[in-house]
Amino acid sequence: MADRAEYLLEVNGLKKYFKVGKKGTLKAVDDVSFYIRKGETLGVVGESGCGKTTCGRTCIGLYDKTAGEVLYRGKDVHQMRGEERKQFTKMAQIIFQDPYASLDPKMKVRDIIAEGIRSHQLINSEEKIRERVDELLVTVGLDQEYGDRYVHEFSGGQRQRIGIARALAVEPEFIVCDEPISALDVSIQAQIVNLLGKLQKEKGLTYMFIAHDLSMVKYISDRVMVMYLGKIVEITASGQLYNHPAHPYTKALLSAIPIPDPKVEEEKVRIRMEGEIPSPVDPPKGCRFQNRCQYATEKCRMEEPELKLIGKDHYVACHMC
Ligand code: SF4
Repeated sequence: MADRAEYLLEVNGLKKYFKVGKKGTLKAVDDVSFYIRKGETLGVVGESGCGKTTCGRTCIGLYDKTAGEVLYRGKDVHQMRGEERKQFTKMAQIIFQDPYASLDPKMKVRDIIAEGIRSHQLINSEEKIRERVDELLVTVGLDQEYGDRYVHEFSGGQRQRIGIARALAVEPEFIVCDEPISALDVSIQAQIVNLLGKLQKEKGLTYMFIAHDLSMVKYISDRVMVMYLGKIVEITASGQLYNHPAHPYTKALLSAIPIPDPKVEEEKVRIRMEGEIPSPVDPPKGCRFQNRCQYATEKCRMEEPELKLIGKDHYVACHMC
């Protein structure tokens, strides 16, 4: 465990449930605990429905929690009110997966980026706001003249750059990057990851970087957290996770990443995951991965594995580890 003084975000026993139908409860995030150090990137990975996006959104207070706590600089995010809450909404920003859906098509790019500056009254002169927006456009690799255009005039990668500029406008220290590259072509994905990495170094930002696979995450993450059906199944330093994965689910996700060398790719043993992800409304007793795991035993069907320390800063939830 790291020194708590280094934490920007600390999450303890967080649960986020949603009501479905008359009696159902969808356990999107089900008792997760982790931390993010100041200035680091925590990659959060898992298939659709694993709870990663809900977790990210609950961490910055976009969703209420069901139980547990999210501490930001030691303060409970869900208890913040008034000025404290306002400051938090400035310090903690989010970049969405689909920039087109998250950017108002009726507004000029300049006004989209300036929205946060105006609402937080960071700059009061319109001339200075214009200068700041021009500076932000250049920072994210766009021409200043693009400020007077509308979102539909841009490609997916450019729109994501606009989304990043909007997040940066209020000078945040923490950004939840909610699948920012999932909708983009592979070549553009690398550009956005490189841009986020560069901005992190320049501005000392802290990221929670959410993705559905492990391919790009390794280029930006200091540590990676793998989620499955609302639970953390593995969390450790990025190098350790990619070189010495322990959980069968992590191994399967890693084996699905294409290797650019055709010979190596051909010889690679791909771990197939049979079966469907169970419903988070009615997760199985015991290990939630049991129906897709080739190592499942009776114990796995009866007892839920706890997240336990198996090496330096390396936590895994599996009876086999
Ligand atoms: Fe597989 Fe059992 Fe480990 Fe779950 S606890 S991942 S079923 S071996």
